[in-house]
Amino acid sequence: MSCKYIIVTGGVTSSLGKGIICASLGKLLAARGLRVTIQKLDPYINVDPGTMNPYEHGEVYVTNDGAETDLDLGHYERFLNVTTSQKNNVTTGRIYYDVITKERKGAYLGKTVQVVPHITDEIKSRVRAIGDTGEYDVVIVEVGGTVGDIEGLPYIEAMRQLRYDVGRKNTLSIHLTLIPYLKAAGELKTKPTQHSVKTILEIGLQPDILVCRAEVPIDTSIRRKIALFCNVDDEDVIASMDAESIYEVPHLMLEEGLDRRVIERLQLDAADEPDLTNWNRFLQAVKHPSKRIKIALVGKYVEHKDAYLSIAESFIHAGAMNDCRVDLVWIQSDDLTARNVAPKLKNVSGILVAPGFGGRGIEGKLHAVRYARTKNIPFFGICLGMQCAVIEFARNVCGMTDANSTEFLPSTPMPLVDLMMEQKQIDDMGGTMRLGQYECKLSENSTAHRAYGNEVIYERHRHRYELNNHYLEQLKSCGLKITGINPSTGLVEIIEIEEHPWFVGVQFHPELKSSVKEPHPLFVNFVAASIAYAEDHELIKKLPTGEVEQQV
Ligand code: GLN
Repeated sequence: MSCKYIIVTGGVTSSLGKGIICASLGKLLAARGLRVTIQKLDPYINVDPGTMNPYEHGEVYVTNDGAETDLDLGHYERFLNVTTSQKNNVTTGRIYYDVITKERKGAYLGKTVQVVPHITDEIKSRVRAIGDTGEYDVVIVEVGGTVGDIEGLPYIEAMRQLRYDVGRKNTLSIHLTLIPYLKAAGELKTKPTQHSVKTILEIGLQPDILVCRAEVPIDTSIRRKIALFCNVDDEDVIASMDAESIYEVPHLMLEEGLDRRVIERLQLDAADEPDLTNWNRFLQAVKHPSKRIKIALVGKYVEHKDAYLSIAESFIHAGAMNDCRVDLVWIQSDDLTARNVAPKLKNVSGILVAPGFGGRGIEGKLHAVRYARTKNIPFFGICLGMQCAVIEFARNVCGMTDANSTEFLPSTPMPLVDLMMEQKQIDDMGGTMRLGQYECKLSENSTAHRAYGNEVIYERHRHRYELNNHYLEQLKSCGLKITGINPSTGLVEIIEIEEHPWFVGVQFHPELKSSVKEPHPLFVNFVAASIAYAEDHELIKKLPTGEVEQQV
């Protein structure tokens, strides 16, 4: 069976949740025994999102091979429990970069290099590079942006051509659109969808299936109207109602028959029913936990929750494993002071200090670390959060009052956290951090070792700075434990504090490896420690069994 391509475009407005629809469809197809992967095509001109502000783009998701990618890849990995790579995220920046590099090398000698065919060919070759491997039955190609955007045109054109190249029967076009509900009129309105389909038809890509986001149910007459005016069959109008949790969307799509229609139309050789046994078990645990606790997430981008998306999702996975709902209390690190840290954190049973860049909010993060350390509250520091934990420990336990990171104070006399050697020569900002998966060896009798149940682990990185090994002995003599080391470079990857109930700082990003099927062991263990703390301090809320809890 040759590989089939499902092209997913979006209309009317952005933020309709195309990534979740793609991940949900992928989940359902995989649960029917198909080999599925997803590719995201991003029309922006950045080569990758690595240089974008988290307020602008949300989290940068890093793959095992060190690609800085769109956060939708995180949804794919979490839903499908697969690993993605650089190949799964294509940007206009990367396409042009490669086409221009080829042009300079003389690859198009004698020709005028143009959007059609050179850019569109390059786009198609990226899509085929995944499909032609023979590893997949289905590639879901998500075209970023909204139909009608100028920068999206080459992608839609490339997808139109792809249908011709690989044969129409091997491709399917799904258009995700919005059916707004006008309260005053008491009606669902189909016109924006009609216009969106018209726009995509002008470019020549007829949608086969319409997935319609709506706040209220779409009745048969509206479905017929949409089908009539958008050239699709009645059954190919799929309603996508707002869900309480993104993890419910596969079920919503199953009920609407999205996967069934896809299988019929592409004549895929798939199981009659998806096997969602494990997924359903997880969903039950998410919806009906027996208890709930609060954990603080201290960071400087907290107004924009997408900046910490994978962390928030990891808590949902780890909460389900612990039969507990974790309510995140988002704390702006800029606002934390020595005076208000206690009242702000008094009801939480665990404190996570988040990753980040630059000096803003560092003092607040140090207050949060100190509070967790001295009050014996479970503490989890990720990347910058670990660096802050070490600085706080050095200053307040070892008496190294000048301890700092050269990221915040380049002239510091005590560079406890410093640029890695190989970073010192680098001037370019894009794609130059320590990126991707590295090995880490754990010490026995450590919290990390107990959590992982393994001696060697592989975790993903995204940072320039690193704990300066020059100060290791001094830190160790004051009680800091180094429990994870990169075996080939000797870089410190994990720190702990011996006499604290749960105090772990990691230089890597564990949140990038948590999935529904395999919640991350450190998150699972941290939540368990936080539950224990909550029980001891009467901070736990027991929920009557059977109570339906909403998870957002
Ligand atoms: N800014 C720090 C560094 O570059 C931490 C990065 C992060 O938290 N991802 O090392």
